[in-house]
Amino acid sequence: MKIINSIVHMQALAIAPEREGRRISFVPTMGFLHDGHASLLREGRKRGDVLVLSIFVNPIQFGKNEDLDSYPRNMDHDCRIAEACGVDIVFIPTAAEMYPNGFQTGVTVRDISLPLCGASRPGHFDGVATVVAKLFNIVRPDVALFGNKDYQQLAVIRRMTADLNMPVEIVGMPIVREADDLAMSSRNAYLSQDERLSALCLSRAVKRARELFAAGERSVAVLVRETRACIEQEAAAAIDYVEFRDDATLHELEVADSGTLLALAVKIGKTRLIDNTVLGEEL
Ligand code: AMP
Repeated sequence: MKIINSIVHMQALAIAPEREGRRISFVPTMGFLHDGHASLLREGRKRGDVLVLSIFVNPIQFGKNEDLDSYPRNMDHDCRIAEACGVDIVFIPTAAEMYPNGFQTGVTVRDISLPLCGASRPGHFDGVATVVAKLFNIVRPDVALFGNKDYQQLAVIRRMTADLNMPVEIVGMPIVREADDLAMSSRNAYLSQDERLSALCLSRAVKRARELFAAGERSVAVLVRETRACIEQEAAAAIDYVEFRDDATLHELEVADSGTLLALAVKIGKTRLIDNTVLGEEL
């Protein structure tokens, strides 16, 4: 397994497989890897001849008062997981090389970036789209894998690659959960023991909404009320949003249907967590 820091070195390594007709699969991450990331890597291993993992805590997708400086990092642990998943190249660029003095270009995916996490984190998806576009130009993947856990991020990236005719297949992968159903996230490391228990209200709320939908409830107003009530039972939880939206456009809905997205963001203490589900979709 090669560990590469320099952008030109990574670009040079990506050219050979392209010439030889070997497929590159790519999994971009911010590191502190868990089984959710590993599921993407394992699928990437199956879909390509060369598997590239990037680890980059992208400063331009963090707001001023967010957790850029405290974001958890552990390169040794990440490299062990990468090795076990059959990664060929770990690309770990520096922020100084990704965003040198004079950098001034950004990618904005307009409407789909605005609601949900985009409303609470202005500019976040511009940062995500810009870094993913840069990484695609550096790694030149044939296929790139992303988790449904960050549902809106995946929707933004699908839109960007279609709109800009990027020659890469985007694959979305199911949410990987802990044994007690908490969606795996690098940010779970911030939770105290008590908060870790409180955080279960997110997956409980998702489950409750799925049950109501399965029992025939279709009114979004009722689904929102019940889902919020489930979270509000937890004293340590502060709801950022609970929304039911079209799974492709992320437009608002009044009536839920099979395929409707439930997305939610909740603060547990200082830690902001997200979860989602597509109603009627098998888990
Ligand atoms: P991150 O390191 O948090 O930026 O995530 C890197 C990639 O892993 C993104 O495509 C995420 O959606 C995906 N991911 C993170 N957590 C999970 C999870 N629990 N299940 C599946 N994919 C995940």
